[in-house]
Amino acid sequence: MSNYHIKQFEEYFQVYRKSVRNPEQFWEEIAEEHFTWKKRWSNVLSYDFKKAEFKWFEDAKLNITENCIDRHLHTRGDKTAILFQPNNPDEEAEHISYRHLHERVCKLANVLKDKGVKKGDVVCVYLPMIPELAISILACARIGAIHSVIFAGFSATAISSRINDCNAKMVITSDGSYRGSKTIDLKGIVDEALNDTPSIESVLVVNRINSDVYMKEGPDVWLQPLLDDAYAECTAEVMDAEDPLFILYTSGSTGKPKGMVHTIGGYMVYTAYTFKNVFQYRDNDVFWCTADIGWITGHSYIVYGPLANGATSVMFEGVPSYPDYGRFWDIVEKHKVTQFYTAPTAIRALAKQGSEFVEKYDLSSLKVLGSVGEPINEEAWHWYDENVGKKKSPIVDTWWQTETGGIMITPIPFSTPTKPTYATLPFIGVQPALMDENGQELKGNQVEGRLCIKFPWPAMARTIWGNHKRYQDTYFSAYDNMYFTGDGALRDEVGYYRITGRVDDVIIVSGHNLGTAPIEDAINEHPAVSESAIVGFPHDVKGNALYGYVTLKDVGESRDHGNLRMEINQLITDRIGPIAKLDKIQFTEALPKTRSGKIMRRILRKIAANETDQLGDTSTLLNPEVVQDIINNVK
Ligand code: ATP
Ligand code: MG
Repeated sequence: MSNYHIKQFEEYFQVYRKSVRNPEQFWEEIAEEHFTWKKRWSNVLSYDFKKAEFKWFEDAKLNITENCIDRHLHTRGDKTAILFQPNNPDEEAEHISYRHLHERVCKLANVLKDKGVKKGDVVCVYLPMIPELAISILACARIGAIHSVIFAGFSATAISSRINDCNAKMVITSDGSYRGSKTIDLKGIVDEALNDTPSIESVLVVNRINSDVYMKEGPDVWLQPLLDDAYAECTAEVMDAEDPLFILYTSGSTGKPKGMVHTIGGYMVYTAYTFKNVFQYRDNDVFWCTADIGWITGHSYIVYGPLANGATSVMFEGVPSYPDYGRFWDIVEKHKVTQFYTAPTAIRALAKQGSEFVEKYDLSSLKVLGSVGEPINEEAWHWYDENVGKKKSPIVDTWWQTETGGIMITPIPFSTPTKPTYATLPFIGVQPALMDENGQELKGNQVEGRLCIKFPWPAMARTIWGNHKRYQDTYFSAYDNMYFTGDGALRDEVGYYRITGRVDDVIIVSGHNLGTAPIEDAINEHPAVSESAIVGFPHDVKGNALYGYVTLKDVGESRDHGNLRMEINQLITDRIGPIAKLDKIQFTEALPKTRSGKIMRRILRKIAANETDQLGDTSTLLNPEVVQDIINNVK
């Protein structure tokens, strides 16, 4: 029987047991039945945790774009593959069919070849959320080039350091981008970045905003005229399952971003299989993941996972607040979106605006809601459930990482009973373990420890580009024979997992280990609070004490809210205990975040410890002005 689509809770358990009892046989069946290979593997899996070496579907040959595009042409050539919704609500949405996608990918692939890009070369893609972004990465995959997408909000220095880290040969960019009411001069940023990047031979420029940009003679060329002349067929390069597909940098929440390398075969199988099940995708559904393709969420669940299933995937160019805070819901109504996948930071920002924006739209098409990126606090979960899902669409709180390639801990909608703040159960084939500080596995339920994964899964990253030692040290040296995630988690009485925060952020107060998520969750319950972050700072008696940074829904005139401080500490006392009370509370306009929208507690920790001269790598910081404001207003 095929295990490709799980529809019931009982079936989840059966398939899960099968997948861990004999992982090789399980993944072999999935790979065999649902994908197109040019040559079969000689071995499903070989691995060595000590050397940090993992191979899935060894010796198999394939091209991922044939799986994501070509094989759908007979059955659903006219179906929309990518549904592009421009930033401007008055600009028409574009429906790109599988057939049309095939043509556009082939043309661009031929342009890349003409420009001298070969199998194994690295191409950096610095584009806004326009179809060319998805088409560029697929064109790279078509010819065996390795794509490295850089989120189009990064600065020139962040771009040049990423280009130099991987010796990229080409950059694909655009003249500019639309973001809400603003335009951004992307080409100018690239020009600045390229002052210091000797490996770059050419720059392909997409015309998005019709701006009169400087084009350096030689390397810089407009893309459209080349596409107009390009041939619409391009034979897919025959790739090894373990050839690199892409390099992608982590968000930089806990330190310098890591250039994770994903390979083709395992990544394809796992992202496709998770997509199908975690979102219960059915043939006529319209799936929308609001992430940018600049992050792993966009790679796996806007491009590869959906397309491998022949799905319709929405790509949105704009921002949730333009022209107003109803934009997401306007798009859901307009395109009858069935699955909606977003991040807690967006949910909190929208909840802060109240429910009036949501109520204006017909959201009855929605079947499944998803969350990813950070722990979702209980208040935000309920807001999402009640206002967006109308209490009838299950919320999948999906825990995973750039490193894991695909979703790892998640409910299966309509099967797994959900529970706010809990990512619930491991996905098929995923074997989590909670470890204590001494390297012992915590068995049974009602335990809390460091989250590890004790068996390889197909989409795991294979290395850090150019630095295998860092890969080994970061993920495989803390515990023998397992992958260490860097996150803390607890397992409740029924075996559900809750992510409690980053291990780096755990605070030891009077000998007790306190994770950040449950305390922040308690603070966020206060009706006046929008978001919060807690960190530790040195304390004579307790070792560490807690410092809370709290953003209010409505800031008001004064920053001194005496009662609010007491009320917040009362909430913490009631929900967690007096041990977790905050010694200091600072009300802030906003919190420092990564460009992917995650709270950067490491910066707040430095501010609390009065070490503002040692903020560390801030290249991925979204809002430096907020950091300065917080420093100026330290309690
Ligand atoms: P860096 O590794 O550079 O510090 P990062 O960890 O933020 O950055 P990502 O790979 O984008 O980079 O994020 C993965 C992390 O996001 C996870 O390790 C976890 O801490 C957090 N995360 C993702 N999804 C969830 C979720 N559903 N619940 C709780 N935390 C989540
Ligand atoms: Mg990380």
